[in-house]
Amino acid sequence: MSQGTINVSVENIFPLIKKFLYSDHEIFLRELISNATDATLKLKHLTSIGEAKVTYGNPVIEVKIDKENKQLHIIDQGIGMTKEEVEKYINQIAFSGAEEFIEKYKDKQGDETGIIGHFGLGFYSAFMVANKVEIITKSYKDEPAAHWTCDGSPNYTLEEADKKERGTEIILHISEDETEFLEEGKISGLLSKYNKFMPIPIKFGTRTETLPKPQDAKEDDEAPTQEVDNIINNPNPAWTKQPADLEDKDYKSFYRELYPSQFEEPLFNIHLNVDYPFNLTGILYFPKLTNDMSVQKDRIQLYQNQVFVTDNVEGIVPEFLTMLRGVIDSPDIPLNVSRSYLQADGAVKKISSYITRKVADKLKSLFNENRKDFEAKWNDIKIVIEYGMLSEDKFFDKSKDFALYPTVDGSFFTFEELKDKIKDAQTDKDDNLVILYASDKEAQHSYIETAKDKGYEVLLLDSPIVSHLIQKLEGANEKTQFVRVDGDHIDNLIKKEDASISKLSEEEKETLKTFLTETIPSEKFTVQLEAMDSSANPFIITEPEFMRRMKEMQQSGGGGMFGMGNMPEM
Ligand code: ADP
Ligand code: MG
Repeated sequence: MSQGTINVSVENIFPLIKKFLYSDHEIFLRELISNATDATLKLKHLTSIGEAKVTYGNPVIEVKIDKENKQLHIIDQGIGMTKEEVEKYINQIAFSGAEEFIEKYKDKQGDETGIIGHFGLGFYSAFMVANKVEIITKSYKDEPAAHWTCDGSPNYTLEEADKKERGTEIILHISEDETEFLEEGKISGLLSKYNKFMPIPIKFGTRTETLPKPQDAKEDDEAPTQEVDNIINNPNPAWTKQPADLEDKDYKSFYRELYPSQFEEPLFNIHLNVDYPFNLTGILYFPKLTNDMSVQKDRIQLYQNQVFVTDNVEGIVPEFLTMLRGVIDSPDIPLNVSRSYLQADGAVKKISSYITRKVADKLKSLFNENRKDFEAKWNDIKIVIEYGMLSEDKFFDKSKDFALYPTVDGSFFTFEELKDKIKDAQTDKDDNLVILYASDKEAQHSYIETAKDKGYEVLLLDSPIVSHLIQKLEGANEKTQFVRVDGDHIDNLIKKEDASISKLSEEEKETLKTFLTETIPSEKFTVQLEAMDSSANPFIITEPEFMRRMKEMQQSGGGGMFGMGNMPEM
């Protein structure tokens, strides 16, 4: 046996990093702004604990395009680096200064630092779009500035510079085939995608602000204007605040900030806030949902320390909740791993069940606080709830407290209330509780009327997954059976009354019977002449319940709901 160390040379690794580190070239900007933010937050922390004896002030991060020289500049007023620190933090690939900082200060006084970086690779993503990168940096410590240049080969130069202001300027010499990153529209698009809620103000150009007219201005005098910094982010988004400090209107205006093109107001929101055993903050919104969710584009956004990561939260949020909108921010979600690994990850599982629980709790409290309002919203939220009941057992258990069953007349029962209401009138000969329901008020109108005449309650269950839901409910409630109002079982319930079709003569009855049996295929439908005594319905034709369910399941079972994967096994 022989042992050894694999010899990795930088020459080999560097081009690999450049090419494969991130599949998406555009994230270089997110990484560099994250570093600038970290540098500023570090300074904030060090000044607050008295370790850096400088004024923190009101630092901003500036992004500047120099089209003529094909350069992009990212400038911060943060902690800066000495020459030695550049050697240490920049020249050592995969050595994370951020991690070192957190390690060093984690038990000291001062609050959470909110530092973003941790892989020690972010900086090098600059080489995905630049053929040369310069760093000009001056530390908050009283030392001369440093100037580092590297053209993407492992060779670099490092010398003193005469920068006077504290902070770091990164200069990217944009490659020939990446010149889109010199377009103002492109950069501002990226800034609003990734950096819209980062904690330090980010300046990109200036904008014209209209000032109030002076008092003595005439009617058609133009209002005065002034040029101001164009700050592209909101450093204090709603989800970073305490729920107690927010009012309903704050949640609504944050919703518009998140989804500027949404005109509908959300129905309600859920503020997530936990710091043990994992860190997670966020706000989820219940939007008005339609049956067709396949085209949803405004999705839940995932952030880490206020940096946008993705709007694909599959595997992190339980599937039925991916229909919601809003923000989740957690530094504890490992994102450098595949989705399938993610689903198996312990922390992620905890996060997912925490979110499910919070949503259930919120629904319960909305139901308890204002039942009328909850009932009014039921139609808009039932898809999520019913889908959740089907796919998450814990949620199913909790749903007893708020899941509603509307009747054709517009009353709403919980399952317990319903059972209580019908237990005397709606049982069959085997002592099963029989729950009647309609799926289409128009088409099943006469069946509904007949059942109502008999004094039965008829539910209106019309969502696309209703047959699955019924199976689930029957499975969970012994001796309970759902029967569609036009199903063949209903006659088990109905008290047979004499002379039911007395309006017809014997002869007429015979003719009708012969006609019906000849025209209606008996293997598919049952014709009942005797059971009905309502004058509106001299006879009824029913389809056996099991046949109908089979058909429905075949129709809805295959592709899964909303194109989001498969329905749970029934
Ligand atoms: P990470 O952010 O994960 O630590 P990076 O590759 O993004 O890794 O950055 C490496 C290190 O370089 C940082 O941890 C930090 O010490 C230093 N650095 C990068 N950008 C700046 C900056 N703008 N100001 C000060 N230090 C910086
Ligand atoms: Mg970084």
